[in-house]
Amino acid sequence: MTELTVTEQKLAQATKRLQESIQSRQRLERQYERDTQRLNTFIGSFFQTVLGVDSVLDQKLLKLRGQLQKNPSVDSIEAALEDINDYAQSQQLQIQRLLKDGYDILEHLANSRNEKLLPTPILTSIKQTLALPALSVTSITPLLVNVIHGLQQTYQQFATKNAVNDGDNNPTAAIESISLERLKQWRKELINLLSMLDFGSRDEVSLQTIRQKLTQQLSRDQLLEQCIKLIRIVLASIREERKSAQHFLSELTDTLTSLQQTVATSKESQQLGNQQQNSLTDKLTSNVQALSNTIEHASDLVVLKQQVQQQLRKLAETVQQKKQLEEAQQRKLSNQFSELESRAKDFQQQAKEYKKRLSEQRFKSLQDSLTRLPNRAAFEERFALEYKRWQKTKAPLVVAIADVDHFKRINDNYGHTAGDKTLQVIANVLKKSLGQAAFISRYGGEEFVMLLADSDSDSALKLLERARTTVREIPFRFKNEDISITISFGMADFQSSLDTMSSVFEKADNALYKAKSEGRDIVIRA
Ligand code: GH3
Ligand code: MG
Ligand code: MG
Repeated sequence: MTELTVTEQKLAQATKRLQESIQSRQRLERQYERDTQRLNTFIGSFFQTVLGVDSVLDQKLLKLRGQLQKNPSVDSIEAALEDINDYAQSQQLQIQRLLKDGYDILEHLANSRNEKLLPTPILTSIKQTLALPALSVTSITPLLVNVIHGLQQTYQQFATKNAVNDGDNNPTAAIESISLERLKQWRKELINLLSMLDFGSRDEVSLQTIRQKLTQQLSRDQLLEQCIKLIRIVLASIREERKSAQHFLSELTDTLTSLQQTVATSKESQQLGNQQQNSLTDKLTSNVQALSNTIEHASDLVVLKQQVQQQLRKLAETVQQKKQLEEAQQRKLSNQFSELESRAKDFQQQAKEYKKRLSEQRFKSLQDSLTRLPNRAAFEERFALEYKRWQKTKAPLVVAIADVDHFKRINDNYGHTAGDKTLQVIANVLKKSLGQAAFISRYGGEEFVMLLADSDSDSALKLLERARTTVREIPFRFKNEDISITISFGMADFQSSLDTMSSVFEKADNALYKAKSEGRDIVIRA
């Protein structure tokens, strides 16, 4: 073999090895590429799963993904990997704590006696999951989502049931507002009832406190609490009233008993006196008889004179006794009568006071304690009277309702006391402005109802317009702020014989509603 041939063979072998190694390298590179590809796919889907679990981790992972897309060397991403690793370890503890909390909540729900809180299938799935050997985020999370759905269902069923109970088929969203509206109506009604109560100074403070509470937003329970307080005050007052009536009755019985006794004793003593008088008269008769016998049978004038003198003395004594007896009887009778008279006077005085108290109470029960205007009960009484009068005479009769504009703001911005003062001032201004032309009552809250008899609709409108502007011009000043307060009016008058108290009142109320919707501070005629 020549040297050349040997060299050629070696070259060929070297070329072959080179080609083999090139192929092997290419295989390795393809393998690496495939592996990298697989790794990237894995990292991609891993990122998809993990992203959104923790916002800090998200940032770190997104940064790593950016680096991986540039085909980096392992060294260059090592720092990022370490950072993620450290962070994941630190979060491990936190996740375990959360898992424990989640577990506790679920366990509580599963063992809760109040099964109505969650539908049965959800409770069953909770129990099953809790029985698993280990809990993970992925097993607990869907369960928690289910629990939330379940609670939502329970709430909806509850709300629908409430809506049905309320006789209303509106969607559940309306329920809260319906009950709030009811609460508001109840508060208003209680304020109205309260304005009809006045038990004098003893309960003034307690009633005032209740009224103050009622003008604020109250929950059902708080409203109930105020109702109970009110009922207690009313009961105490009824008890007191009953005591005072009982006292009056027992006084009356005493007086009548003593009257009867006096009459009986005076009758008795008169009978006794009569007997004594009779026996004295008998004595007198026998005295006179003895005298006449003496005179008849006398034989000696001197003896007769002596005997007559003796008989006359006896006669005079008896006359004297009779006189004394009469006087004593007279005195006794007159004493008894003057005693009777003074008892009767006492009793008359008591009856007078009681009557006065009763009429005062009636007056109070018809008067609003804050504004001293007639209250709603008084209005209703008067309205019925005026209506009867209208039916008979057909003389004009106008009903007007006034409502203070945005009154709630006064309470909210300057306090309840400022609100109360405002109502008092407005009441006085209405009284002054409308004078004798109107019967003004505080119907309730910040509403005044007026009856204008003998004013036709046009002149009533003018009067109300004047009252409206007068109120607007009152310079109110609260917390160093000058405030203008306005009122809106709705009015209606009786026209046809078909008109009733309620139909005309309703017309006035609708007109007031219109006044409010047209911007307030106006008088609207129905
Ligand atoms: P509008 O112009 O629509 O009539 O608004 P408003 O704020 O006057 O009406 P709303 O009925 O909402 O509020 C009336 C308020 O009046 C609510 C209640 O707290 C208050 N109020 C009722 N009675 C009294 C009271 O005797 N004293 C005080 N200070 N406030 C009262
Ligand atoms: Mg009102
Ligand atoms: Mg108002």
